[in-house]
Amino acid sequence: MGDAADLYGLIGHPVEHSRSPLIHRLFADQTEQRIEYLLIDAPPGRFQSEVGRFRARGGLGLNVTLPYKLDAQRLCSRLTQRAAQAGAVNTLAWQDGGLLGDNTDGDGLVRDLSDNLGVDMRGSRILLIGAGGAARGAIGSLLRAGPVELSIANRTADKALALAAEFSAAGPVQGRSFESLEDGFDIIINATSASLSDEVPAIPAAAVGPSTFCYDMMYSSRPTAFLRWATAGGAAGSADGLGMLVEQAAESFLLWRGVRPDTGPVLDEVRRGLD
Ligand code: NDP
Repeated sequence: MGDAADLYGLIGHPVEHSRSPLIHRLFADQTEQRIEYLLIDAPPGRFQSEVGRFRARGGLGLNVTLPYKLDAQRLCSRLTQRAAQAGAVNTLAWQDGGLLGDNTDGDGLVRDLSDNLGVDMRGSRILLIGAGGAARGAIGSLLRAGPVELSIANRTADKALALAAEFSAAGPVQGRSFESLEDGFDIIINATSASLSDEVPAIPAAAVGPSTFCYDMMYSSRPTAFLRWATAGGAAGSADGLGMLVEQAAESFLLWRGVRPDTGPVLDEVRRGLD
């Protein structure tokens, strides 16, 4: 290892409230890696030039957040299979003379559910609510976890139907309207931005049964509107998306540094910082 720390960062707009610098600093301390992690706020139209500037400084890898996950994909010379399937890139790595694009969001979600929360996904019936970027990034990973059913429902039902059709060759996925969700699911994942405005997607209460596990991709120091709704509806368990954030970061760190951090203590510390 040379004298200077290796350079990584997060690019998006806005980025100032991001927890990623803290998460990667904790990973680096734990695994004894010398890295520096920058926050890069790229105003509209400046994504590509900011990536170029970062690379000119010797940068080795970037996390990419809203609204640039599609722009990032276009810059890459190579994509991992999961990034190609998601149609979006959240991790860039300059490797082997080219720019590799990866997407760690979906596998981060599945790892949080299965490893941290003990949710058994094999043979399960999963409902994914939402048809935006977060939902799209999760579908391939959820199907690889082996459910018997992955239903996608969205306020604008046509988008759920189109998304399900796009992934139909990858597993048992179907698009549904909110009104049709009258049966209890094993797992319900909220991939909408409704919790940002303290709202709950208008799905029937019957979608939650006594053995349903509910997961909100959004996270907060208090239970989100969706998680309060799940508890009131008698769900067996629930969690917010902070674990997904930490797990997708760990997958990026593994790609960049070749070492997988132990996420448990990092998740605990980041959770304490939310209060
Ligand atoms: P998009 O803007 O791409 O999609 C928004 C989705 O939310 C659409 O499906 C939209 O439905 C739906 N929606 C918005 N408001 C409501 C409402 N009031 N009722 C029902 N549906 C609604 O957002 P993203 O997919 O990028 O992000 C979604 C969420 O996931 C965000 O909260 C984000 O913070 C979170 N996220 C968390 C991550 C993590 O690591 N924990 C990683 C990535 C995302 P319609 O099509 O009808 O408009």
